[in-house]
Amino acid sequence: MPVPTKTMLKHEPIWTAGVESQGQQFPGGRHCVDTVVIGAGLAGLSAAWHILAKRPEQTLLVLEAGRIGSGASTRSTGMLTPGIGQNLAALIKRVGVEQARGMYNQTLWAVNYAGELAQKLGIDCELEMGGQLIVAHGAKGSERLRNQAQAFAELGLPHELLSSAELDHLVHLKHSPDATCDPAAIRLPIAGTLHPGRMVNGLAQQVLDLGGIIYEQAKVTNISSGQPATITIEGGGEIVANKVILATSGNAPDLGIMKGRVLPVHLSVLLTEPLSPAEMQVLGWQGRECIIDSRRLFNYFRLTKDNRIIFGGGLPRYHWGGSTMPEPDNPEYLAELSAEFRNTIPDEIELKVARSWNGLIDYVLDTIPAIQYLPNKPAVIHVGGWSGHGVALTIASGAWVAHLVNEGIPPEQLPWFRANPPFIPFEPARFIGFQATTLVMSLMDRA
Ligand SMILES: Cc1cc2nc3c(=O)[nH]c(=O)nc-3n(C[C@H](O)[C@H](O)[C@H](O)COP(=O)(O)OP(=O)(O)OC[C@H]3O[C@@H](n4cnc5c(N)ncnc54)[C@H](O)[C@@H]3O)c2cc1C
Repeated sequence: MPVPTKTMLKHEPIWTAGVESQGQQFPGGRHCVDTVVIGAGLAGLSAAWHILAKRPEQTLLVLEAGRIGSGASTRSTGMLTPGIGQNLAALIKRVGVEQARGMYNQTLWAVNYAGELAQKLGIDCELEMGGQLIVAHGAKGSERLRNQAQAFAELGLPHELLSSAELDHLVHLKHSPDATCDPAAIRLPIAGTLHPGRMVNGLAQQVLDLGGIIYEQAKVTNISSGQPATITIEGGGEIVANKVILATSGNAPDLGIMKGRVLPVHLSVLLTEPLSPAEMQVLGWQGRECIIDSRRLFNYFRLTKDNRIIFGGGLPRYHWGGSTMPEPDNPEYLAELSAEFRNTIPDEIELKVARSWNGLIDYVLDTIPAIQYLPNKPAVIHVGGWSGHGVALTIASGAWVAHLVNEGIPPEQLPWFRANPPFIPFEPARFIGFQATTLVMSLMDRA
């Protein structure tokens, strides 16, 4: 199968076209403010907007190491989906029925809230609430899907089981399972897609409108332990803040925070050229649902507004020492994704890759997000641990974090307001453990 050569490909995410620079350069010097948000992704900008919306009189700065949205937020596939760690049956085993139901319901709330917020703020982010399909893939995947179906039923969560013929009616996939696979897919009605770049851009604009200040190219190198905290910025300058929201996703360990608890993990996606009307007809896909498959290491894909397929999956990668350095373009990653695409999408649809890019997520071992005041830095609230599943949750987390900042307490008994996520103390254990786990998962998927 021909894989496009490096020179033919662009590696800039398509979504950054929706983001205009909304920031200014940090002027240097020493400043005192009420609140600093570190990281201008969806989590940081949503927190900033919610805090200011409730208390516009306070002074708030957003500090962003690159440009707004330059992290995972504009590198994702932009799927607004519910759930924790993608496998409900496994979540029930880990935390029990009641807690799993509570967590899942919070993620449903987050999906709805993200859409409502975009509408309320008038952000044109190409929101489409077409639902989500979880599609059986392979014998092991079919078994996992059956377990998932049981879990959805046990928890009384919104879902619909689809036979092979019903799935085929919605979308024609290459590996659509045969008639004996029951169910062939689960349809989740509360899910959708958006243009994450436009969402980032819209939130940033709203923060500025409420009097917030956003500094780009302002990389934080240290946060002191005091209350208030002193924040040091690369190149010179300090900010003293009563509250600090740390929304740097997989980069938190670079600041010596959450090291061994948040693992920086790299993912890749590819983007096709727009499909022709004839190709769209082959696929069906009138409902434009976002789709994942049911394996442990699953593919996820959706249509963009101009009918391109954006397709993610393949092996997630953890590099030695938890390196957050952007990965070099590696033809192997694209070859792997291309093979997964070819296994999934009917042959009538030629694979014409327009772009591919990589991004960094913040993986935690139990895949449950963690929003908490840091025990040794009382001014700092860490927001993250989305484990690759953060588009809806990051947007919604702004409301939760603002409640914590403005009222001093979490909004309610939310499972993500918790003490530290699991800890892996030493680097060889993290590196070897991650490689071994992904290898075992991939073997189990193929078994
Ligand atoms: C390829 C890929 C596909 C994905 N697909 C989906 C999907 O379909 N659905 C889904 O729900 N999730 C998906 N995700 C995950 C989702 O994108 C993330 O969970 C979410 O965007 C995280 O948002 P954030 O604001 O926490 O982090 P980010 O968007 O990464 O923002 C963090 C920001 O902090 C800045 N920063 C870091 N360090 C510093 C510092 N020292 N000083 C100042 N600023 C700093 C960074 O530059 C960055 O802009 C995907 C992720 C990837 C990589």
